[in-house]
Amino acid sequence: MKRWSCAALVLLALAGGAHAAAPGLCERIVGRLPNVTRPLCESAKLVDSGVKSVQGTPLYMRDIGAHHGRLRVLVVGGIHGDELSSTSVALHWLRLARDEHVDMPQPIHWRFVPILNPDGLLGQPPKRVNSNGVDLNRNFPTPNWERDAAVYWEKRTRKDPRRWPGPKPLSEPETRFLHDQMQGFKPHLIVSIHAPYGVLDFDGPSVPPSKLGRLYLDQVGIFPGSLGNYGGVHKKVPVVTIELPNALRTPLDAETRQMWLDLLRWTATKIQGDGPASR
Ligand SMILES: [Zn+2]
Repeated sequence: MKRWSCAALVLLALAGGAHAAAPGLCERIVGRLPNVTRPLCESAKLVDSGVKSVQGTPLYMRDIGAHHGRLRVLVVGGIHGDELSSTSVALHWLRLARDEHVDMPQPIHWRFVPILNPDGLLGQPPKRVNSNGVDLNRNFPTPNWERDAAVYWEKRTRKDPRRWPGPKPLSEPETRFLHDQMQGFKPHLIVSIHAPYGVLDFDGPSVPPSKLGRLYLDQVGIFPGSLGNYGGVHKKVPVVTIELPNALRTPLDAETRQMWLDLLRWTATKIQGDGPASR
């Protein structure tokens, strides 16, 4: 028994070591992100996924909750590097998912990817696009991407450099990483956090949430190569897209918590995990 405890301690220490990469990250992002303290960043214990951005910054993630939980939820922040509040809210929700117990019909296995575009976030000034100038939220492999993404960019955005979809779908390490997460983790729900339009959008095969906190549903349409289009419309995984009202300021903490509680409440009633028969 004693020997077992010892082995467990060693394992715990090793697990702690795996998190050791994150303090360097916190040094770089705290002070840049609104409403994120050093303790909040460090307590997130983000883990280096082993995948790197175009400029070689690790892409971090963290799993929280029942690893055998039947309901898997993938939360993504910072697809657009200049939407700083999206990363902050993802870190606050990570803490809530870890620390606050809410009775749910099924345990949730959360996977947080709070900074999908670290090169954009760490830019001076922060940038929407990644280091190759690609809008990551137009780079997912939706059907007819080759035709539609280019036409949309040229005609609808008039070649806006902030919205370039890239040379081909999944051309970027950041989008390939998220695509791999979708394939491997198989989320029942994807939550993608943005700013600053102050609405809630939804793509996918279920009844959308009508509101999260003070954000109300306003389905703004679909874009070639967007995560909502790829995940929600094409792969049939519901995607909740949250547009926070301000890219540089987070909502008040009480509002951030209310949004999370509303998300949980909606998830509990609308999203079904794998039944026991399929496990
Ligand atoms: Zn955005």
